[in-house]
Amino acid sequence: MKSFTYERATSPVTAAQAVATNPNAKFIAGGTNLLDLMKLEIEMPSHLVDVGRLGLDRIEGTEDGGLRIGTLVSNTALSAHPRVREDYAVLTRAIQAGASGQLRNKATTGGNMLQRTRCVYFYDTNMPCNKRKPGSGCAAIGGVSRQLGVIGTSDKCIATYPGDMAVAMRVLDATVETVKADGTTRAIPAADFHRLWGDTPEIETALEPGEIITHVRLPAPLGGKHFYAKVRDRRSYAFALISVAAVIQPDGTGRVAFGGMAPKPWRLAEADAQLPNGATAVIRTAFADARPTEDNAFKIPLAERTLAGVLADAKA
Ligand SMILES: Cc1cc2nc3c(=O)[nH]c(=O)nc-3n(C[C@H](O)[C@H](O)[C@H](O)COP(=O)(O)OP(=O)(O)OC[C@H]3O[C@@H](n4cnc5c(N)ncnc54)[C@H](O)[C@@H]3O)c2cc1C
Ligand code: SF4
Repeated sequence: MKSFTYERATSPVTAAQAVATNPNAKFIAGGTNLLDLMKLEIEMPSHLVDVGRLGLDRIEGTEDGGLRIGTLVSNTALSAHPRVREDYAVLTRAIQAGASGQLRNKATTGGNMLQRTRCVYFYDTNMPCNKRKPGSGCAAIGGVSRQLGVIGTSDKCIATYPGDMAVAMRVLDATVETVKADGTTRAIPAADFHRLWGDTPEIETALEPGEIITHVRLPAPLGGKHFYAKVRDRRSYAFALISVAAVIQPDGTGRVAFGGMAPKPWRLAEADAQLPNGATAVIRTAFADARPTEDNAFKIPLAERTLAGVLADAKA
């Protein structure tokens, strides 16, 4: 690991200023993703700004009946919160399907949204990777791509966003609240938060340099039945090959988002509209523009079967 300096931020704005004015600085929250990347010298910040003591660790009700979640709320605390369990069960289920108990105790809400891809070539510094080193090429294209994306990918990068929690946030139409170095704030819809890779796979989210997540806001509860189905190579402690987050109403309408398929949690309004027509209709619509590789074409029928199971459970 390269040496680095460290400071503990005292407010969101000073934290944002410290990172915005130093291109080699990074925020650190739980550290469960960033420290791994630093040890492997995939990320080499020369300065860390610790946001862990900013007091952004509360979950509060909002006037419209929703919830406002501080960025430092741990994954464990968020998944166990009585209002989340009662009204946003898809979120509890998605979080609890991820990582391990110890990791969820340490991982934060904002850090989880910003976890980086698990493409094996991204982790292997001997291999070309446009995301790690822009312009170096992509070893996954023509390489081993079983875990990687089938839609929303580009000729520069075919990696996926690997997390679980954000797939539920997308189904719930969450909003990410931020503060910039000049003190201005933004509310970014979950739909726009993660980017498609295009020509710049190193830019993964809508955040500007130094912009800090302060909260994630959930709108009023949707009702309905909540599901998170995750398919992975082993039963625990593994990232999703594919996942399905869904909220299904008694009349069969609802919302569905897919994880493990794309650079972002994948949800299309046209595919939501097909839910009453069954899993095949949803998948045909959601993945009409898919460009799978030979290695990962299995993900599309796997997603269809997983969604069919969810829809059968919703009727039970
Ligand atoms: C072995 C292992 C298995 C895992 N399995 C899963 C899994 O199955 N499913 C899953 O979803 N996840 C999984 N994870 C990932 C885990 O969920 C993330 O590492 C964790 O959520 C990151 O949160 P953190 O607070 O530790 O982030 P950090 O590591 O502290 O930060 C991550 C990134 O976010 C930035 N950041 C942090 N907070 C802010 C903020 N407030 N504003 C702006 N930027 C910020 C940091 O600069 C960094 O770039 C696994 C991790 C490990 C190590
Ligand atoms: S798929 Fe993306 S992350 Fe993986 S090697 Fe290619 S550029 Fe890098």
